Amino acid sequence: MINLISDTVTKPTPGMLQAMMEAEVGDDVFGEDPTVNALEAKVAALFNKEAAIFCPSGTMTNQIAIKVHTQPLDEVICDEYSHIYQYEVGGYAYNSGVAINLLKGTHGKITATQIEAAIKPEFDWLPRTRLVVLENTCNKGGGSYYTLDEIRPISKLCWNRGLALHLDGARIFNALAETGETTHAVGEQFDSISLCLSKGLGAPVGSVLIGSEAFIKQARRVRKVMGGGMRQAGYLAAAGIYALDHQVERLKEDNERAKQIGAVLEAMPCVSEVRPVQTNILIFDVNPPYTAASFLEKLAGKGIQASPFGPQTVRFVTHLDFTEEMLDRVVEALKDME
Ligand SMILES: *Cc1c(COP(=O)(O)O)cnc(C)c1O
Repeated sequence: MINLISDTVTKPTPGMLQAMMEAEVGDDVFGEDPTVNALEAKVAALFNKEAAIFCPSGTMTNQIAIKVHTQPLDEVICDEYSHIYQYEVGGYAYNSGVAINLLKGTHGKITATQIEAAIKPEFDWLPRTRLVVLENTCNKGGGSYYTLDEIRPISKLCWNRGLALHLDGARIFNALAETGETTHAVGEQFDSISLCLSKGLGAPVGSVLIGSEAFIKQARRVRKVMGGGMRQAGYLAAAGIYALDHQVERLKEDNERAKQIGAVLEAMPCVSEVRPVQTNILIFDVNPPYTAASFLEKLAGKGIQASPFGPQTVRFVTHLDFTEEMLDRVVEALKDME
């Protein structure tokens, strides 16, 4: 089967497994795992931030960030498509006791003008606007990305209005593969950044949260209370280091393959509204009599798995284990779907 369900389905490469086997480890709850410490230092330096913390998942890194940036009765501003709103079990309310102010952006992207209009005045009866969260690339937005020119007015607004700015950068490297912008330049714009090692980067487990020394110090306490303190986690961190050293450059290929599939979908009479293909995620609608379910069933019959994203909506995600040869097979299978 060809698996286009998500870029989380990848298995460690032989080189990555070797690096994991050879990792030097210790007890990370005591701060004594040299490989975890090396990963944290590496990611912090990459984005020119003071400190970083390795966590089991991107949900945890986002939830820790919200918790550390806010107090109960505060409010978070984000796009309605945001992962923190859609796919984290309402954790902002559960973990942090905060409200959420959803904006209707364009393919998951919001502007400084929209955010400024959404900031609440200070009254006892209103939640206090405290945090803005951007997602780059935006998953539910079809892999759309922000450029630095789009981000800068937002960071400036946040600084001027005393708001924290967090980046859900689960797939930030897919965005940078397109823009050619640097990690340092991205780091400058945000108070904190969460990035996933287990998506396009191809590691089996893990996400990293980066920010100031003081922010990460508090994040360590919150990670512990969420049950995210791991012991010989260096075996996992080693996979992350390997991914950053060897599997960032190739993300361009994933983006490119998605664009090629997008071009085929555009030409199919049974497909409409292919969201602009910007990185490695494709979201499109299928026309009746197809439903997402019947379209996916037919595809499965041709050896291709993908996920439903609504009654008529389908999502494909390209990744490390999706090869050029598989691309040819997918293109052929799609051309065969009437
Ligand atoms: C996958 C993802 C996360 C984190 O997910 P986990 O499965 O908890 O690691 C966060 N944000 C976005 C945009 C994602 O796609």
